[in-house]
Amino acid sequence: MVSSSAPIAAGPAVATYGNFIAGEWRPARSGGTFENRNPANQEELVGHFAASSAEDVDDAVTAASEAAAGWRRTSAIARSTILHKAAAILESRINDVGRELTREEGKTLKEGIGETTRAVQILRYYAGEAQQPIGENYPSLSPTTLLYTQREPLGVVAVITPWNFPIAIPTWKIAPALAFGNTVVFKPASLTPLCAVRLVEALAEAGLPPGVLNLVTGAAGAVGNPLVRDERVVGITFTGSNAVGADLRRIVAERGAKLQLELGGKNPAIVLADADLDHALGHVVNGAMMSSGQKCTATSRAIVERGIADQFTELLAARISSLKVGDPLQAETQVGPLVNEEAAERVAAEIERAKGNGAELLVGGGRPNENGLGQGAFVTPALFGGVNPDSRLGQEELFGPILGVIPVADVEEAIAVANRIRFGLSASMFTRDLGTALHFAREIQAGIVHVNSETAGAEPQVPFGGMKGSSSYSREQGKSAREFFTQVKTVYLDPPPMPPALAEARASGAS
Ligand code: NAP
Repeated sequence: MVSSSAPIAAGPAVATYGNFIAGEWRPARSGGTFENRNPANQEELVGHFAASSAEDVDDAVTAASEAAAGWRRTSAIARSTILHKAAAILESRINDVGRELTREEGKTLKEGIGETTRAVQILRYYAGEAQQPIGENYPSLSPTTLLYTQREPLGVVAVITPWNFPIAIPTWKIAPALAFGNTVVFKPASLTPLCAVRLVEALAEAGLPPGVLNLVTGAAGAVGNPLVRDERVVGITFTGSNAVGADLRRIVAERGAKLQLELGGKNPAIVLADADLDHALGHVVNGAMMSSGQKCTATSRAIVERGIADQFTELLAARISSLKVGDPLQAETQVGPLVNEEAAERVAAEIERAKGNGAELLVGGGRPNENGLGQGAFVTPALFGGVNPDSRLGQEELFGPILGVIPVADVEEAIAVANRIRFGLSASMFTRDLGTALHFAREIQAGIVHVNSETAGAEPQVPFGGMKGSSSYSREQGKSAREFFTQVKTVYLDPPPMPPALAEARASGAS
């Protein structure tokens, strides 16, 4: 039986949410829960969530394994219909879910609603993808052989996601996994479990059979660790930090499951002297500071031609210091808090460290106290000038509202500096010169390239992912998802030998 709603207990103000296993919302086996708080106001509880353990993971993987054969044999058209229904259900809740997203993650309400809208679009996109051809026909040496390929699901896949896009990233993994016939065990980030609950509710209400999608909330060690080690899990798609990605690479290589890693970035925006500076300014500031700089595709290096570096830095300083920091639920707020107090302290410490290493802080970088902001995980957007590209500030993903300006002599030095890093997720260039733009697109080492737009833009119908240390050479979204979530079977179909009488009749021309 699929329960109709997620909360398993609701007090006067704060609900308790369970896991979703075998089509039922249920508490963790231990009965334990953990709290989720609003990063804009640490006093405010968002909910209590199941603090699961290896036993719950085992239940979820068992449910997914038992459901796998039935779901694999379900027609792709029926799977598509369920995804369409889930899209309609989530769409009818966009404002509520977007608001909840803002309350648990901290991005502005506009961004929270925008991200939920994107999740709806992704569900629709993969409802369509489920109806696309699943194989190819080939000529054979033998004229009577029907030689074709067909794509088949992997089986049980684990979906492990970060907190910074708490509904879009789970959707762009779960929707194609289901569309192509896999069953799923989903472990969301512990900082954003409510968005995970809302997504699973929409899919369950749309009619997914029990066991096809299972949600297990809880800590990385207690849930993520047994999940990636379970031999029944044949595919693991992970988005998160490089450190955890490196651990998963080791663990999963030993047992030979299919692994997809989407990791960090340190993304450059190159601004050339011929660019429309006002246009570049808006895009560089948005790329750096929206979601408080906590996007894997955020702009964190502004690589600027020396001739305009002072002028552009002044423009950046004025624009960044004018950004309205505050409660992300308020319409006028442009920059909300970081995801929690620990993240705010870490980012503030990175800013102090960069100053200590000689970097010049031009604006921001403080922990504001006024207007109740002291209750939240706020850091004012920070701009550093004259950054050494090889310093920690120029090389490491700091995951906060921090932009560093790196002056360079010309376009060649700009591209060389942009590429001299272990990451390769996204990059942008601002120029009016078409030849230079094409040269940049050819030479930049990044999986996503923008010309005259910010590093953080991404549409769901095209591949998404990074080069070098930013991914495992795989891509998500668009048609790329099919590569990860399916495997190819090649079929040689030969007719049996013809009975002699029929062969004779055919040879003599009789029909
Ligand atoms: P994280 O700490 O690596 O965690 C990501 C997910 O993995 C969480 O669900 C986490 O659980 C879980 N996890 C942690 N350790 C694990 C382990 N040993 N085994 C199994 N699961 C484990 O990353 P994050 O702080 O949530 O996210 C920020 C990072 O994600 C940044 O580096 C950002 O660039 C990257 N990111 C990349 C992309 C991309 O597409 N390339 C997109 C968005 C974000 P808990 O929450 O319980 O710890």
